[in-house]
Amino acid sequence: MDESILVVNSGSSSVKLALFDKHHKKKASALAERLNNQDASARINGNLDPIELPEGANHQQALQVLIETFNQKELLKGPPMAIGHRVVHGGETFREAALIDSATITAIKNVSSLAPLHNPVNLVGIEAMQELFPSVPQVAVFDTAYHQTLPEKAYRYALPKHCYEDWGVRRYGFHGTSHYFMAQEAARLLAKPMETASIISAHLGNGCSITAIRDGKSVDTSMGLTPLEGLVMGTRSGDVDPGLFDYLSGRGVSAAEVHTMLNNDSGLMGLSGHTNDMRTLCDLADQGDKPARLAIDVFCFRLARYIGAMTASLSHLDAVVFTGGIGENSAHVRQETINHLGLLGLDIDPERNQQHGAQSNNRVSSVDSRFPVLTIPTNEELVIAREANRLANA
Ligand code: ADP
Repeated sequence: MDESILVVNSGSSSVKLALFDKHHKKKASALAERLNNQDASARINGNLDPIELPEGANHQQALQVLIETFNQKELLKGPPMAIGHRVVHGGETFREAALIDSATITAIKNVSSLAPLHNPVNLVGIEAMQELFPSVPQVAVFDTAYHQTLPEKAYRYALPKHCYEDWGVRRYGFHGTSHYFMAQEAARLLAKPMETASIISAHLGNGCSITAIRDGKSVDTSMGLTPLEGLVMGTRSGDVDPGLFDYLSGRGVSAAEVHTMLNNDSGLMGLSGHTNDMRTLCDLADQGDKPARLAIDVFCFRLARYIGAMTASLSHLDAVVFTGGIGENSAHVRQETINHLGLLGLDIDPERNQQHGAQSNNRVSSVDSRFPVLTIPTNEELVIAREANRLANA
């Protein structure tokens, strides 16, 4: 056995691996992309040199090649001591991470209808690793689990109650692993116990969500039944009027076309007509591109509205935290968002903000700000590694 922990993130056409030592220090990573396609490719540790995969390799074949490469490079010397898997949907069954056995697999399958694009491919990763390492304990860490503490008033929609009772239509929330990490890190930086931490956490990547954390627990979040609700995202619309479906169907747009529009062609991409990449949008806006400017404005205004909305669940506020590719790197988005929130007493320090808080203990707020605003790099892989190690040894 090798005293390491392997983290597996199996997506629809890709699989990512991260290898941690027993002290939870990351020692290697690997990525296989465009799986089940002619041009499937793999890389290790961000090296540009590709690793050869069989033509049209599937998840199972790619995982096998990546593990063999770890072995050849002596990054892994024998089976790891634990394997952690990212699983998108745990429904109401999983309030925390779970050791994987046949009952866990059945339960993950049972909630797959809530995440048909994700849970089945997550299971492919689990089954592949079970075949490769039959005697290694494996753990599932769910994107939804951290939000299972939402009170009913926050997770119920105002729909006929049978929608919830018969079909499970409710707010589940996603990015839970990241929001949990944010709460822990913010509490640590503010020297507060996690049990009393009161945080608004904004995860802004290609997918975006915001969570209110009270006494260390998630009490409200912007994503809902699916990861489509809430903030403006890279290609997802976030909130729209549900009346849109009827209106567009009257114009000959099918439900499937609306689904594709809302998930793939909206958000920053839809508004700008150019790209979902915030960096490019900021450059274009600086050059006077009006649709790019509008996309950024809508993104920041929606986010500010949600920061305000999240205060309804809190009795005090320790910090507003930004993370994800945009949250960690875009000084412009943080500034423009917080500019809307003067009434809450929030205020950005331009210099700290430009440095992403590097010289100011992660703070980007000014000394006059009523509440601290922090930027913290998220680390979902680390949470999965810790959970895998904890449950494997429990
Ligand atoms: P994912 O959700 O796929 O993990 P990331 O968390 O990597 O995505 O976030 C991707 C987003 O972060 C993209 O919109 C990208 O443009 C944005 N981003 C990355 N670096 C910067 C930067 N320096 N300035 C502005 N946006 C950035």
